Amino acid sequence: MGDMQNTLAGGGDAERAARRDEAIRAAVEQGLLGPGTPIIGLLDVVGIRASAAELRAAFDAVTAPGTPVLHAFAVKATPLVPVLRLLRDTGMGAEVASPGELALARAAGITPARTVLDSPAKTPAELREALALGIAVNADNPQELDRIDALARSAPTRSPIGIRVNPQVGGGTIDATSTATSTSKFGVALQDEGAREWVVRACAARPWLTRLHAHTGSQGVPLSLMARGVEETYALAEEINQRLGRRQIDTIDIGGGLPVNFHSDDTTPTYAQYARLLSEAVPGLFDGRYGLVTEFGRSLLAKHGTVVARVEYAKRAGGRPIAVTHAGVQVATRTVYAPGSWPLRIAAYDPKGRPKEGAPVVQDIAGPACFSGDLLAEGRSLPLLDQGDYAAALDTGAYYFAHHYAYNSLPRPAIHGFAPHADGQIHFGLVRPAQTPEDIVRESGGYQPRALLDL
Ligand SMILES: *Cc1c(COP(=O)(O)O)cnc(C)c1O
Repeated sequence: MGDMQNTLAGGGDAERAARRDEAIRAAVEQGLLGPGTPIIGLLDVVGIRASAAELRAAFDAVTAPGTPVLHAFAVKATPLVPVLRLLRDTGMGAEVASPGELALARAAGITPARTVLDSPAKTPAELREALALGIAVNADNPQELDRIDALARSAPTRSPIGIRVNPQVGGGTIDATSTATSTSKFGVALQDEGAREWVVRACAARPWLTRLHAHTGSQGVPLSLMARGVEETYALAEEINQRLGRRQIDTIDIGGGLPVNFHSDDTTPTYAQYARLLSEAVPGLFDGRYGLVTEFGRSLLAKHGTVVARVEYAKRAGGRPIAVTHAGVQVATRTVYAPGSWPLRIAAYDPKGRPKEGAPVVQDIAGPACFSGDLLAEGRSLPLLDQGDYAAALDTGAYYFAHHYAYNSLPRPAIHGFAPHADGQIHFGLVRPAQTPEDIVRESGGYQPRALLDL
């Protein structure tokens, strides 16, 4: 039944892989990709819509009718205005953590009522703007709450205000994305001495403090640990409401963090699995007494993005075949610097963009940057890549091609969204143009070449 719905909604894993192959072939055929444009990013519009629908359905299935639920996309995962606009179209809001991300959400037309501000280092000006707009704000720490106190005294605000807590339930397999360790920099560390009592008193003194927020995981964190983080946050909300004798905490923001399977085309775990697990672990959270906010990022977009890069040269060193491509550290920074934590699947395509046939050969897929560690994949078994072929880095729709690293002044590649059209062709829409050499010069002080001469 679930699979059937997936297929109808366009979200089936096999269908998504088939759409990806079609899009790569069409991108070559339509000239978006070729010798003069050796790298692009592709986004599967049908797949993105399907994932947003799956997220909504998963929580609808476990929440009491009428429960307010806001699914706020974590903008940092794919900070591209047309993507945010597409998600807005599916009913989603935005979770932002900087003035830039807020500006992107606003440019996409996401309203303040559907926006949540979460950064750990909000300046007074950022807080003032958010409160003036009525955007939900989650305070990270006591000093930030002091600032909000002062701002709220000087100008009344419609913003729902919450406190971010760190339930300190522990980390996952990747330190850099483990947000609930005992010494994590995020939120109020709940198990530290006096911290829980401080949160209760902070709420007692501020009737407008109505939310709790916890984001206790990300890639590498097991679902059971994420569920424990939500459970702890819910227990704190219950304690606060009980001790204050009123239902002051009315909304719980459970963050994002659903991990992504980077090893195959299977979508595992699913939103439905996570929502079901939460509803079993924390049934009270779903009985209609609390509004819910979610902040998923990677799990919504990762599997819908692909970086496709041309093989400029094929060579050998020490007996190892090496495909020198145009995708490396500039688009896959985490993978290149920490390949053990962030491996990517690579698929091989021929010069016409058709899946490459042939016996698997162990080879390296290298990037274009001038340092020897710039490898997208090392010792990978694939049909032997040759000059003019294409290598695709799969599952790169979140935290990859929109997270450019300007090593060697390599340009940001163009990003195209795609969808099959009734005319039988794949249609493309430009999400972001490629950066030009002129752009690079301008952004690198090109307007003030003499700036250092006359000091
Ligand atoms: C990064 C982040 C998210 C999104 O995390 P994903 O792992 O991409 O789902 C959500 N909330 C907060 C506060 C974050 O910092």
